[in-house]
Amino acid sequence: MALSGLDIYKLLPKTNCKECGYATCLAFAMALAQKKASLDKCPHVTLKAKEALESASQPPIKLVTIGVGEKKLEMGNETVMYRHEQKFYHPTGIGFLIEDTLDLDKIQEVISKINSLSFERVGLTIRPDLVCIKNSSGDKDKFVKAAEAAVSKTGLNIALYSDDAAKILEALKICKDRKPLMICGDISKLDEFGKIAKENSVAIAVTFSNIEELAQLTDRVKKSGVEEIVLNIKTDSLWKRIQDATSIRRTALKKNLRPLGYPVMAFTNTSEADLELAEAVSYVAKYVSLVIVKSIEKDFVFPILVARQDIYTDPQKPVQVEPKIYEIGKVTKDSPVLVTTNFSITYFTVAGEVEASKVPTYIVCCDAEGMSVLTAWAAEKFTAEKIAESIKTNGIADKVSHKKIVIPGYVAVLSGKLEELSGWTVEVGPREASGLPAYLKGWK
Ligand code: SF4
Repeated sequence: MALSGLDIYKLLPKTNCKECGYATCLAFAMALAQKKASLDKCPHVTLKAKEALESASQPPIKLVTIGVGEKKLEMGNETVMYRHEQKFYHPTGIGFLIEDTLDLDKIQEVISKINSLSFERVGLTIRPDLVCIKNSSGDKDKFVKAAEAAVSKTGLNIALYSDDAAKILEALKICKDRKPLMICGDISKLDEFGKIAKENSVAIAVTFSNIEELAQLTDRVKKSGVEEIVLNIKTDSLWKRIQDATSIRRTALKKNLRPLGYPVMAFTNTSEADLELAEAVSYVAKYVSLVIVKSIEKDFVFPILVARQDIYTDPQKPVQVEPKIYEIGKVTKDSPVLVTTNFSITYFTVAGEVEASKVPTYIVCCDAEGMSVLTAWAAEKFTAEKIAESIKTNGIADKVSHKKIVIPGYVAVLSGKLEELSGWTVEVGPREASGLPAYLKGWK
């Protein structure tokens, strides 16, 4: 937890000697708390105070990076329990379990299918992050060949999972440059795994089934010189795994307990796709930074990615589209003109229904600070004045030969004043976007 200016002040010498460039120790402490000054500017700070201050300036949950380049996966560094307190920073990574007991052809086929899992939603691309090769066969060659297939067939990040450190070391030889995550399945060999992680500069996941022992395990790994640690929950039931992930987040944030200040990962533990989906989404919602699933079907993966996108959107900043005129289909001077707000979900819902209607249409998106229609109207961000101003300045009058606009049914109350201010005929459209196809087909 970050220290306040007063907490920092208590650790300073309180002599007000001004050598740091500030008039008082208190002023320097305030500047430190706001990260506007660095501690080394005070030559009189004691070693003990220095250690305490440096430790307090570390994030409560360490940032761990898997992979390299654009697709690298960053986990941890979260600062709150609930997204409305601020926001969640690093979206949960979604990975797929690939066991090396599968034939090599099948592994390649599965990886190709995983590569195709990329979707567009509210103007953004959402896709999974990782493939996890598990040494279920116990055979070194099969494990290495499966890892080779992952390296050559996908640009996604890689995790290597084995109980045997020697086999992990062989697989690491071919994918070390991709900075994979090394998952240690056997804690009795943790020191051996830690040594390999240190020598190869990769992160290590520590598998645990008893949270009481976790602090000891991470301390052991830290002693081997590894900083990037992930906590792999392997407790029996779903509720216990959620409980453990929540306890770890709370303990790290509220008690600043460093040995638990690492991102958490979990494997789904059911073979029924519906239950697996519920399990994966539960992990995304409750503090798991990397979820490894078994199913690879599109209709299984898409809802998980949507849940992640929604939970990791900044609640203070709705996802917005640019406020401007959008053309759907081959518009002409006779095409209808719809007006809506620039909240992404609103725009894409309207645009989707217009596309479905097959009636080429202009959509005028007004700047409503990313709020949906009713919310923006209630907050006075989607008013007759604002819509009239948008119509006057965005050039829609040059694009059509008529002067008719369609407003959402929920804001029918704006029509009179809007006609007066804009000089356009205002028509009231359906309340819900789902009514647009029928409405547009009958529009004249
Ligand atoms: S140099 Fe240190 S002791 Fe002197 S005023 Fe600044 S903080 Fe206080």
